[in-house]
Order: sequence, then structure tokens, then C-alpha cells
Amino acid sequence: MANNPNEGRQFLDSVHQFFDNAASYSRLDAGILAQIRTCNSVYKVSFPVEIDGKIEVVEGIRAQHSHHKLPSKGGIRYSMQVDEDEVIALAALMTFKCAVVDVPFGGAKGGVRINPRTTSVKTLEKVTRRFAAELIRKNLIGPGIDVPAPDYGTGSREMAWIADTYQALNYGETNALGCVTGKPVGQGGIRGRAEATGLGIYYGIREALADSDLLKGKNLDGHTMQGKRIVVQGLGNVGYHAAYFCQQDGAIIVGIAEREGGIFNENGIDVQQAFKHRSENGSILNFPNAKNYENSMELLEVECDILIPAALENQINSDNAARIKAKIVAEGANGPVTKDAERVLLQNGVIIIPDLYLNAGGVTVSYFEWLKNLSHVRFGRMGKRAEEASLRRIVNAIESSSGKSMSQQERHILIQGADEVDLVRSGLEDTMINAYHEIRDVMVLKKIPDLRTAAFLTAIEKIGVSYEALGIFP
Ligand code: GLU
Repeated sequence: MANNPNEGRQFLDSVHQFFDNAASYSRLDAGILAQIRTCNSVYKVSFPVEIDGKIEVVEGIRAQHSHHKLPSKGGIRYSMQVDEDEVIALAALMTFKCAVVDVPFGGAKGGVRINPRTTSVKTLEKVTRRFAAELIRKNLIGPGIDVPAPDYGTGSREMAWIADTYQALNYGETNALGCVTGKPVGQGGIRGRAEATGLGIYYGIREALADSDLLKGKNLDGHTMQGKRIVVQGLGNVGYHAAYFCQQDGAIIVGIAEREGGIFNENGIDVQQAFKHRSENGSILNFPNAKNYENSMELLEVECDILIPAALENQINSDNAARIKAKIVAEGANGPVTKDAERVLLQNGVIIIPDLYLNAGGVTVSYFEWLKNLSHVRFGRMGKRAEEASLRRIVNAIESSSGKSMSQQERHILIQGADEVDLVRSGLEDTMINAYHEIRDVMVLKKIPDLRTAAFLTAIEKIGVSYEALGIFP
């Protein structure tokens, strides 16, 4: 994957251009549009950490892009590529993402310049707790202020450290666990969060595939996932789950691209096996029956129906855009397609399902986790048995009126009430479906040629309404 010092700036420029393009369709006041576009605050902190007996200076950044709704929300990434522009661009995307899926938060993002793959767990814990303490000190984190979550290079383990540090320094705060989401289930997390982004991507692609108007003339057989040939870049949490759920629904994963190389098999690659192979061997390469790609970027250019870039930003850029042969580019990562590349893809008739909609499943379920933390009760705990009792009465009535009794298994399927994970998935599916149709309606109504512009415009209009309601602009 590419890594050049100007990537952060290019990424931010792309986000600004996407915004400006969508804003040109809006009738909001120019001042409100300028406020929506700008990043409200950025905090940069350097702190010393002892690593193997030596003191090293580590840099952390937290950008709160918007405060029109509180808390602000967005992940914290660990990567050597982290810089201020990149974090601001990602924070901006969070603002628009939350608005697209009606998650009532502002947008934020954080980053720590550290390589999680070459850093010991002990050091990662020290860095995470210290960064959390720096944010607490400045009142930049809290259930009603700003709520981090996992992102590239972080996961539930880091979130548990943040929650624990926050609780220790805010002793007795009832809602303390809501200071961060993506926590392990045993430490205030919610079932269904780990796979949420990938599952949301699956729902989003499924919606687009069922949209015959959108796909007119695109030479995609049928309107379901069945038999669709997919290449995925990145087998991390997002890419793995997106590929897994698409495969479960009949898609054929023909290629998987990773940092160390890629693999291709036109008959399909079992995603779970590929994941296992990579964990056991430390590399995706040499997977049975698959062709190796030493340069995994070449795998993005193979013939396929759907390309899911689910790694980092700027992966499809002016260098490779013209060679992309996928019919649909489904943005699992944040900002994987630059503005210049987008122009080329759209000219070539490629449909782009944009990040601010497609990967919003993560923050959607983070919202559910936050609600759970504030309500101090697991979803389903109060109603599940009552729901089952009423379903049982209905099933009994059907049996006695028909004179036929059902098997134990049939009764079980009909009577089972909803658990936390069922409710989370139901809320996520509903959110992804509704948001898709909202974006499509705006696209048709305003005669907008692409989904990204329509998604940005949908978000801008919603945020504009909250600024007007706040009365900030008298
Ligand atoms: N880091 C994820 C994203 O980019 C999740 C953010 C969240 O859950 O707050 O959407």
C-alpha cells in the first residue's frame, strides 16, 4: 500500500472537494455551509513513554470536526502514517457519516503515531492509557463530550484500556462506560459491534444490487449477491467481515489483497480459511490453489463485479483509477478513492458506493452501545420473556385450532424472542436500508449523477437544520 508524506493533505483536499461539489446543490446559507465544512477543534499532544528502557516521544491527535450534536464520535487509529490532515479528514467524514445514518453525534477522529504491529502489548497499553489521560485532562473525552471507538490498528482491547483509565480518573461517574465504544462485551460492550462495519457493508451492497434503476446498463446479472465476483483489499476487521457476509449470501470472493501481497482464485477463496491461513503463517501468500500476487495493488485491477477497498485512504488514485475493471467500488475503508480517481471511475461507468454511507455500520452500532451504557441495561433483558410468552400463546392457539401440533424445532423458531444481538442486527439493517433509500431519493430529486454527492448533500442538509435550530446564526 502506498505511503507518501503528502497523503494526509491529498485526503483532506479530496474530502473538501467532495463537500464543495455536494454543497453546490444546497440552498443553505454560505456561512452555515462554511461552518459545516470547517473542523471545529484539533488537539495535538506529545508525551514521553518508556520503551525498552529508553524514553520515546509519542504524538497523539484528536480532531473534533463538529459540535452541532454532542457527544462527538469517531475512532482512534494507530499507524505511523497518522498526521493532522489525515485525522481532520477522517473526523470530517465522521460528521457526514453520522448524519447520513441519523446517529445523533458530531464527528471526531483520533490518531496516535505508533506501529501497533511492532510494538509490545505492554507499551501499547502504556501509550493508550497515557493518551486517554491526556484527553481526560483537557476534558476532550466523556459520554457527553467525545466518544472514541476502534479504527485502523486498534480494537476492543484498546477501548477497554481507555474505559478503565476514564473510570479510574472519574470515580463514581454513573455513565463512565459510555466514554468509549467498541469495548469487549464483558466490559460494557455490545454484542454485534465487532462485525458491525462489515455487516453494514454487506447490507449496503445488497441494497445497491437490488436497485435496478441504479444498475441499468451495468451488465450485472440478477439483482442479488449470488455469484457476484468480489475482490477485497484488507483482511482486517472490516474487510474480513464484509467479505464473509457477502460470501455467506452467495458471492464469490475471487481476490484478497493485503500488505504483504495478494491471492487470487477465480473459483473463490474461503474467507475464514484465508484468515486462518494468514494468522498461522503471518502472510496471506501461498494459500492453497490460489495464485500469488507479490504486488497486491495489481489485484485491485483484475476483472470482477465488486471491489471492496477496506484498508486505508487514497488506494485508488490517479495512478491506477483508469485500470480498475470492477463494476462497483464499495468503499469499506474511509477515503479509499481520491477525488481525481473518482472522476475517472465515474467516466468509466463505475458505481461507487461511498464510505460515508457504506461503512457507517460501525458507528451505528457504537450508538447502540452508547445507549446501552447510558441505560445500564442489556437490550432484550426486559422484554424477551414477555415476547416469548405471547408468541407461545399464539402458537398454542394455532395448534389447537388447526388440530396439528408442531415439532419442537418449529415451535422453537416461532417462539424465540429477540436477544441483544438480534436487536442490534435488526437496528443496523433497518438503518442501512433507510439511509440507502434516503440517498437515492435525494439523487433522483436533485438529479445528482452519483451516490457520493447525494450522500454528502443528504448529510449537509440535515446538519444545516441542526445549526439553524441551535440559533448559532442569528
Ligand atoms: N472507526 C469507525 C469509523 O470510521 C467507527 C467509529 C465509531 O464507532 O465511533 O466509522
